[in-house]
Amino acid sequence: MKTVLISGAGIAGPTLAFWLRAAGFQPTLVERAPTLRTGGYVIDFWGLGYEIAERMGLTTAINRAGYHVQEMRIVDDRGQRVAGFGTGVFTELTNGRYVTLRRSDLSRLLFEKISGTTDVIFGDDIIGLRQGQDGVLVQLRHGEERRFDLTIGADGLHSSIRELAFGPQRQFEKHLGYVVAAFEVDGYRPRDENVYLMYGKPGRMLGRFTLRNDRTLFLFVLAADGDVVASAPDQQKAKLREVYGDCGWECPQILQRLDGADELYFDRVSQIRMAKWSQGRVALVGDAAFCVSLLAGQGSALAMISAYILAGELAAAGGRHAEAFGNYEARLRSYIDTKQRGAERLASVFAPRTAAGLWFRNQVIRTFAVPGVARLVAGRDIVDALRLPDYEWPFQNDLQSSVTDNWGGGTAAKS
Ligand SMILES: Cc1cc2nc3c(=O)[nH]c(=O)nc-3n(C[C@H](O)[C@H](O)[C@H](O)COP(=O)(O)OP(=O)(O)OC[C@H]3O[C@@H](n4cnc5c(N)ncnc54)[C@H](O)[C@@H]3O)c2cc1C
Repeated sequence: MKTVLISGAGIAGPTLAFWLRAAGFQPTLVERAPTLRTGGYVIDFWGLGYEIAERMGLTTAINRAGYHVQEMRIVDDRGQRVAGFGTGVFTELTNGRYVTLRRSDLSRLLFEKISGTTDVIFGDDIIGLRQGQDGVLVQLRHGEERRFDLTIGADGLHSSIRELAFGPQRQFEKHLGYVVAAFEVDGYRPRDENVYLMYGKPGRMLGRFTLRNDRTLFLFVLAADGDVVASAPDQQKAKLREVYGDCGWECPQILQRLDGADELYFDRVSQIRMAKWSQGRVALVGDAAFCVSLLAGQGSALAMISAYILAGELAAAGGRHAEAFGNYEARLRSYIDTKQRGAERLASVFAPRTAAGLWFRNQVIRTFAVPGVARLVAGRDIVDALRLPDYEWPFQNDLQSSVTDNWGGGTAAKS
């Protein structure tokens, strides 16, 4: 039984804890926030992430919590449709295994699978790491020094495990030139169920998505240097007002609702690029290792894939971490590189910086109405080029008691 400390209870952290438990390891999860984070933004979820969720018995709950978007609609200053497409092509390409849900809902569902079987420490974080021959000595901010066999950073884009074990974030961060903001409000009108509305001006995008319980989510993507992210929430709101102040459509009323927003998500659109994802007994998963950015539309799935493969390789190597970490990277490295390159290319399409770029983007999206075009374009990115390896999970049945769906799988054979 190896003890593993995981930093971060987002997407990768609970997934890793689940599969480590299934393999017979003893994970402990530490999360900086005092409780699981709520709100935030919605994510599209499909492919291998969906397949892992299925193996964890979670897809019924995920589909219940999620939305099945019918249309992506781009509107002009007066709210008239200028381009868009039906999202049926995604459903078709994924055999209906495609859902949009709050990132926080996915995180909560993953977390529910491990509560009761994994030690969890909320409201704390790791401020010191010392690696020795037979373990890692970890200093918690609010606790004593503890020893673990392995330590894994699943603490996202701004990972402090990465900082402690590999060096400052600036060495690894590639800012893609945009900032993203999101917030939710109650009682906004109009509502468009299962439609993702997008409005654009050069260098600015604003999306609106109708949620259940009379909630609405707004997503801003704007060309900006990353410094504003470090400022106080009031300054971040001021930045949004300044940048979107002259915009049409519903921008004035959306900006007005910023005042009452209880939580504003605000961050750089960046990628993390590292030569190695492990250092001795410390390794990274998910955004901490290789954040692909929101532009890949798949970061959560990749976080889950990396967690699943890391746990599987540790199990297959009988806990020999150097061998396992090497295999983990070998399996994923080129797949992640491709995703990062694809996301970087997409940056200029998501929020084009010029009027001509915006016009061209909309023309391209209009061609999606031509039969077969959307399938051809989306197919390249939607269908995963990786096959999920199978590993032996001798203790998975112990976790089935907390399983939400009926999953028929028993112990899988290693491929
Ligand atoms: C606007 C937006 C849209 C997106 N859309 C999609 C999409 O459509 N599809 C998709 O798959 N992905 C999408 N993503 C990406 C996706 O959200 C991330 O890739 C995914 O959340 C990464 O999971 P993670 O567990 O690695 O990190 P996170 O989800 O960021 O979780 C990290 C956790 O670590 C905690 N933490 C941070 N620092 C510490 C510390 N020092 N100590 C302890 N805990 C710490 C945090 O509180 C958090 O709980 C989107 C992202 C954004 C911003």
